[in-house]
Amino acid sequence: MPTQITALAVSKAFDGRPVLDSVSCSLAQGERTGIVGENGSGKTTLLRLLAGRVRPDRGRVVLRADGGVGYLAQDEGLPADMTAQQVIDRALGDLRAIEARMRRLEAAMADGDASALDAYGEAVSAFELRGGYDADARLERALHGLGLRQVDRALPLGDLSGGERARLRLAAVLA
Ligand code: ADP
Repeated sequence: MPTQITALAVSKAFDGRPVLDSVSCSLAQGERTGIVGENGSGKTTLLRLLAGRVRPDRGRVVLRADGGVGYLAQDEGLPADMTAQQVIDRALGDLRAIEARMRRLEAAMADGDASALDAYGEAVSAFELRGGYDADARLERALHGLGLRQVDRALPLGDLSGGERARLRLAAVLA
């Protein structure tokens, strides 16, 4: 199914103060776009709605993306003692969890539990749709492409420059 990200007449208010009022927009596959507006005008709110991170008060967001939607927040306020490796592990956490589930179900099937077969099939297709088999290679490509191959992954974020921290989070989302 083709990727689709569409907002249909979405409205969102915070503490009774409207931020978005009946906004509609759509992104076609492969399209790149930018949202421009004054501080506080609702750009982040719109992006978070489109990424499925917040729900609209009214209207609908249609999200169809086989591999899921990545969202890189402007500032996540990650703890300074978190290491680069932990940021990476966190990004791949979903995939690692699916992989662990696959291993558990394989063991159950080997023990003769036929009922594990369906769940296993689902786990494998979820893993494939998320590009699980290619995740480590993708991560290396992203780190390399963003000039972070030489960064010591044992370093805490507090020891990285602001630019390195931002690029590390971007690489993790891309992976
Ligand atoms: P922009 O990204 O254009 O600067 P935002 O979408 O971050 O704007 O914020 C739009 C308005 O909504 C601001 O007034 C902001 O204070 C408010 N807002 C955003 N998120 C929240 C929230 N979680 N709770 C309360 N108010 C919020």
